[in-house]
Amino acid sequence: MQPLDGRTALVTGAGSGIGRACAEALAAAGAKVLVVDIDGDSAREVAGRVGGTAHVVDLAEPRQIEELPADVDIVVNNAGIQTVAPVHEFPPDRFALIQQVMLTAPFLLARRCLPHMYANRWGRLVHVSSVHGVRASPFKAAYVAAKHGIEGLSKVIALEAAPFGVTSNCVAPGYVRTPLVAGQIDDQAARHGIDPDQVVADVFLQRSAIKRLIEPSEVAALVTWLCGDEAGYLTGASLPIDGGWTAS
Ligand code: NAD
Repeated sequence: MQPLDGRTALVTGAGSGIGRACAEALAAAGAKVLVVDIDGDSAREVAGRVGGTAHVVDLAEPRQIEELPADVDIVVNNAGIQTVAPVHEFPPDRFALIQQVMLTAPFLLARRCLPHMYANRWGRLVHVSSVHGVRASPFKAAYVAAKHGIEGLSKVIALEAAPFGVTSNCVAPGYVRTPLVAGQIDDQAARHGIDPDQVVADVFLQRSAIKRLIEPSEVAALVTWLCGDEAGYLTGASLPIDGGWTAS
């Protein structure tokens, strides 16, 4: 018996990075995985590898979210994007898109999937937040706003869902070794006119006590544990996986 045998897990942004690692870890724990991503090729590749199903969906489009299966036991809200710019230059359409993908889509998915979980009196929602769900950095207005928002949404779901055996939690990583971070390293290097290695050491890991990037598999292990029966009393929480960043 595997801990998640018989469970169906929907993972957004599962074609890359943390989402891909979550799809792999949840499948290894026995879950049937719905691999949701805007990038069809990577969604199909991951689905093939984990024995799941690919769902090519743009999470910025509410109508496409309505086409996803609602009868899932686990939702991992992971898909995310980033734009780095000062507030007075931040493109408004980009700000709106980031809220749509990283906050409105998780709300719409919860709204869609909770009735099935309530009927079964079991469910798990895990939201991949960030240190930026509880801390700010300059030039990341949309991302920090969306991550603070998902922290609040998760707590409200936790309170409403508790009587039905459904939990809602955030995991809040520091910098993880993924394509999203690789892009940020290049952006910051160009912005500050410094070497990418120096960006990692001086900008990204400056506030972390553990001086290395986190591996996606480390985040996925925590997400998978939160989806198990053992984690049934943990809800409304945000678990930092940040190498001590928020301890300081
Ligand atoms: P990534 O870029 O490797 O993967 C993100 C995935 O989301 C991609 O496959 C992409 O195609 C998908 N996606 C983007 N927009 C989409 C849309 N509109 N519809 C459907 N899918 C879409 O990113 P990652 O680093 O693995 O980040 C995953 C999550 O983890 C994000 O929410 C991010 O904010 C969070 N996070 C990342 C880090 C980090 O250091 N990488 C740290 C803290 C939190």
